[in-house]
Amino acid sequence: MKRLAILGATGSIGTQALDIVSQHPERLRVTAMAAFANQSSLEHLASRHNSPRLALASKGLEPLIEMAQADDVDMVVVAISGAAALLPTIAAIEAGKEVALATKEVLVAAGELVMPLCQKHGVNLIPIDSEHSAIFQCLRGYRHDQIRTLTLTASGGPFRGRKSLEGITVEQALNHPTWRMGGKITIDSATLMNKALEMIEAKWLFDIAMDQVKVCVHPQSVLHSLVEFHDGSMLGQLGWPDMRLPIQVALLWPDKVPNQMRPWNPVETPSLTFESLDETVFPSLGMAREAERLGGTAPTAFNAANEAAVARFLKGEIGFTEIFRTVERALHHHVVNSLSLDSILAADAEARRFVHG
Ligand code: MG
Repeated sequence: MKRLAILGATGSIGTQALDIVSQHPERLRVTAMAAFANQSSLEHLASRHNSPRLALASKGLEPLIEMAQADDVDMVVVAISGAAALLPTIAAIEAGKEVALATKEVLVAAGELVMPLCQKHGVNLIPIDSEHSAIFQCLRGYRHDQIRTLTLTASGGPFRGRKSLEGITVEQALNHPTWRMGGKITIDSATLMNKALEMIEAKWLFDIAMDQVKVCVHPQSVLHSLVEFHDGSMLGQLGWPDMRLPIQVALLWPDKVPNQMRPWNPVETPSLTFESLDETVFPSLGMAREAERLGGTAPTAFNAANEAAVARFLKGEIGFTEIFRTVERALHHHVVNSLSLDSILAADAEARRFVHG
């Protein structure tokens, strides 16, 4: 029986993780749950899962840190958004807990601290992000120095193939063609900022150089990513675009257990197509490369500026393409510091202040 603390239980990933728990009551049990601020829906979910301990991140991070280190927790599922995820994740690793990570911002901002900490404490950090889950599965039995490249697949979002992104509305940007996700990540998929963050996430997770991380547009979202080895052979993982699969992979790792999901059938997908991304229309990937090149706190500032710019776009305060310009300005304004917990939190706060004016 694996005992879970789910941080971000009321969000899209959290509720799907609870669905997986319900499908495997003999293997998984929730002993603690946290959300950001939504107490009533947290209590409602808790009543259906043996009434675990509860906490709200909006009232302070201390209870989440305690949850992440509690004796009756074997694995911490990190699906709470933004900076609130960082300290509990570090606490979980320091306590030797297995971590299933959905919040890619943790690695974008602090991969340089988090990955060595996992090594030190012998902690398995298992990605929930579908692309990284695919790579994680394909790499079983291989080493990072055997990798030539990783190719992250991208659906291309609702504006795939467009030559201009001017005048796009919030409603258009929230209408993702293949994945059903929360508001922020749906906008990040439309701007391709999500893929940009995933490049940095992959770099840390799989210990490879940024120029080994490639992106390929694949509108059907069936091939979830590719690993190319030095001998030229490639491995990929396929499945319907359903986040419950990578969630189950992480929660039950390394076991493979039957579930209620309908398996992918090749003859039901008449064609899988691939195209390159037009980086003159979508400047996001280049900005991630620049943030990574600057190093230190630059990826933190990049991530925080994007989060703040998306919030302003969703409120109707700035236009769609202003997200790019805003993040770029914040990145240039940012003074890069070497990485520590304090410099990460300071860079995060400063980039948000810059964007919100
Ligand atoms: Mg992803």
